[in-house]
Amino acid sequence: MKKIIVIILTSILLNNFAIANEVNVFSSRHYESDIELYKKFTNQTGIKVNVISGKDEALQKRIIEEGTNSKADLYITSDAGNIAIFDSKGMFQNSMSPTIEKLVPSNFRNKNWVGITKRARILFYSPERVVNDDLKNLNYEDLANPKWKGRIVIRQSNNIYNQSLIASLIFNNGKETTGEWAKSIVKNMARDPKGNDRAQILAVAAGEADIAIANTYYYALMLSGNKGLEQQIAAKKVLPFFPNQNNRGTHMNISGGGILKYAPNKGSAIKLIEFLLTKEAQQHLVNNTYEYPMIEGVEPHELLKKMGTKFKQDLTTDVASYGQYQSDALEIMLNAKWK
Ligand code: FE
Repeated sequence: MKKIIVIILTSILLNNFAIANEVNVFSSRHYESDIELYKKFTNQTGIKVNVISGKDEALQKRIIEEGTNSKADLYITSDAGNIAIFDSKGMFQNSMSPTIEKLVPSNFRNKNWVGITKRARILFYSPERVVNDDLKNLNYEDLANPKWKGRIVIRQSNNIYNQSLIASLIFNNGKETTGEWAKSIVKNMARDPKGNDRAQILAVAAGEADIAIANTYYYALMLSGNKGLEQQIAAKKVLPFFPNQNNRGTHMNISGGGILKYAPNKGSAIKLIEFLLTKEAQQHLVNNTYEYPMIEGVEPHELLKKMGTKFKQDLTTDVASYGQYQSDALEIMLNAKWK
């Protein structure tokens, strides 16, 4: 009898040990620094982190296809639009803990997923061709003004960052108004949309346009010199501008993730999310990716501070709405012949 109890106890312990000591992360983030961070987590907790990296499409397809057999615990990606759409397919489960709820403002999370870092999608302008008066109280909405005709560059409509920006405009101004806005933006474009966010900043630096719309971390990345001297010089020719300072604030987005519906190691996944929200991890993340910290009390990278950290962030628009209005946003852009 004693022997049986010992065997049962041992097997319970072994099972718990196996459950508590591993977490499988599916990530579309391509940062080497993320891997360093997971190593720190393992050193602190003894929980091994297995990382499967890939493109969002491939990772999501695999998770859906493997269904109940999926070993994925935590899916990490960028853009709330991406995350919210995956959530709407029922792929996540409750990812909250009291710690997570306390640390992350409610507009940057949902029951099933949470923002880990933040980024802003802002304007980068030529100080030679855009004057202070032009920028006074400038909102995203004002870019529809004919005064900007032939002066704006922004990437294509298939880009998730654009879809989320337009979704936020639908949330705040309605679909019809945003539809008209998009038509005016297309008229104001300096060229057919092409290239990534950095390519838009390069276009302004080269004099092809006066205002680029791009995410904050790309500008910092260019300034850092990590993308080469040419891009560093180009970045120095443009200046950042944070729109909508006199109303709801600048459009914000997140990197983040959620715990998958069939996660075998939910407890460890929660611990990993909580770790990513510690001061130490947040500092590591923002130093390496030039994103903004999610939690209070962590300073962004010097290059971001120079851009101005006191700007008003939009904290009233729930980033979950980027998923909710994603198909409307795409429809609006395609209607406006936004390439
Ligand atoms: Fe990006």
